[in-house]
Amino acid sequence: MRRQPIERVTVRAPAKVNLHLSVGRLRPDGFHELTTVFQAIGLYDEVDAVQADALSVTVTGEGADLVPLDNTNLAARAVDLLAAETGRKSGVALTIRKGIPVAGGCAGGSADAAAALVACDALWRTDMSRDHLAVLGARLGSDVPFALHGGTALGTGRGERLTPVLGHGSYSWVLALAEGGLSTPDVYAELDRQRDSGPVGVVSDASAVLTALRGGDPVALGRALANDLQPPAVALCPPLQQVLRTGTDLGALGAMVSGSGPTVAFLARNDDHAAALAAGLAGQGVCRSVRRADGPVAGARVVEFA
Ligand code: C5P
Repeated sequence: MRRQPIERVTVRAPAKVNLHLSVGRLRPDGFHELTTVFQAIGLYDEVDAVQADALSVTVTGEGADLVPLDNTNLAARAVDLLAAETGRKSGVALTIRKGIPVAGGCAGGSADAAAALVACDALWRTDMSRDHLAVLGARLGSDVPFALHGGTALGTGRGERLTPVLGHGSYSWVLALAEGGLSTPDVYAELDRQRDSGPVGVVSDASAVLTALRGGDPVALGRALANDLQPPAVALCPPLQQVLRTGTDLGALGAMVSGSGPTVAFLARNDDHAAALAAGLAGQGVCRSVRRADGPVAGARVVEFA
């Protein structure tokens, strides 16, 4: 049977939080050795890919003005990379609808790259395996393989080598979005500077987080949350201290800077508690806005063909 040409594909890709992030040595390639536990949460970017004569990028939604539209855009680079790999022309018009905070430490750019890979794979019917897409994704950014994978996973290497994590239950997160963003390289550089100038605690291994996930125990998970990038993120953006304290005072089970920040993630006991926590944080005026999201959720998926 002859297959109909596809004109447009829409893909949804999730944000992530790092439940555990320990940063090891700086490698010769400029990346740090990581041990991290990612969880994909229900806050999404949507990417439309439409057949076109040339590659173009349009971005809408909050923070859209901060996203580059040229070929440095991670989603555009994903199209170019898949085109080169499969011998196609990268004639695709991309529209990115941002639901994930821009430069917020929630891997929004990686989600867009993952979405663009999945969208063009479907649009061009290249039928590439997820593993092959993940190998391409890792060339674009350390978090792209996880945006494809979704769920909860242990990440090693520079964060791109993934092992699924066995877990139970769903977790209710509240995210406090900050005014402005933080640059990931700047936060890693600040961590290196802090480590050079004195003893800085390295967070322990991920076993407490993994045990809490296995037991589906939000109280234990809240206690186990740990992120080596939090002290440098707070040093670069001191108001984050107040945000962390406010959520903790409001009864969050755990509070941490998400990835390299400046988004702060709070774990709630359940849905009702998340609603109360979100209202409390919004009412205190310590952040730009507040979002709720549950995790884990699936990785980048096609939601519409036309
Ligand atoms: O791979 P990604 O685009 O997320 O990395 C952005 C920057 O974050 C890198 O250029 C590097 O400065 C820093 N980074 C790092 N170690 C990692 C991941 C990222 O130093 N494991």
